[in-house]
Amino acid sequence: MDMRIIGIDIGGTYFRIGTVCDGKKVTRFQKVPTASVIRSDDVILDMAQFIQEYIQDTVIDAVVIGFPATLDRSRRKVMQAPNLEFMEDLPVVDGLGAKLGIPVLAERDVTMALHYDVDKYGLSTDGVICGIYFGTGIGNAIMIDGKPLSGKNGAAGEIGHIPVIGSRLRCGCGNEGCVENLAAGKYLVRLQQEHYPQTPVGELFARHRQEEALREFVDRMAAVVAAEINILDPDHMLLGGGVVNMTDFPRAYLQERIVARTRKPYPARNLQIIYTEDEPEKSVVGAAIYAGQRVE
Ligand SMILES: [Zn+2]
Repeated sequence: MDMRIIGIDIGGTYFRIGTVCDGKKVTRFQKVPTASVIRSDDVILDMAQFIQEYIQDTVIDAVVIGFPATLDRSRRKVMQAPNLEFMEDLPVVDGLGAKLGIPVLAERDVTMALHYDVDKYGLSTDGVICGIYFGTGIGNAIMIDGKPLSGKNGAAGEIGHIPVIGSRLRCGCGNEGCVENLAAGKYLVRLQQEHYPQTPVGELFARHRQEEALREFVDRMAAVVAAEINILDPDHMLLGGGVVNMTDFPRAYLQERIVARTRKPYPARNLQIIYTEDEPEKSVVGAAIYAGQRVE
């Protein structure tokens, strides 16, 4: 069945929207500032107006939205979004569905990204697939036999909030010592400000990757990946996000540290790690792939 799906990726800064036909072909892709979409306290009304203006009178089968947030187990409500405070406790699926008169699906943005990558690399969805995306924070999605793992409260796959004993750094989630403050983009921004003020953040690896601070940072990333591998022994481990795609990011060293920190002899001896690129339309197309599988 040929479906026409609107895929939306909501970020703290940008709102990306596109129409996806034939499963993967994106048309009318747009990227607009989130602040230009959400202008009042009525977040659902603002979103509905923006989507309606975008759709006009095209016939659409579903609207699918990826959120940088935790969602409830039924995937009808946004629970908590560190960079989108106005989205807390938002009944987005029922609210938008009623206003648009079109089925609405919601998922975490990382789950959409993982669907895109699994499709792009032609991976079999039998078994366990893990995706860890090192961006500003750490995004994590886990798929078991093709189904996203959501957990009792919908909050599974939050590896960025594993506590690091000894760290008192306050995290956006309210806890202290979460690993994403030490092994993701936020740490690089702080490191740059404090130690490399002459180097743009994007060039930290290009200029300083041999230095201790950055090698330790990469080792902490490896510890995060190894933790997930040691628990789940995944069939495929995908790594992506802005950090691993930075200029001269030392993938070989990361790989070496992941192997060093993974249980011997297995899963260490048989690691399948795939590095994924950052693509602007990734979550929008991933949302459509996700929706296609749900509707089937
Ligand atoms: Zn946290």
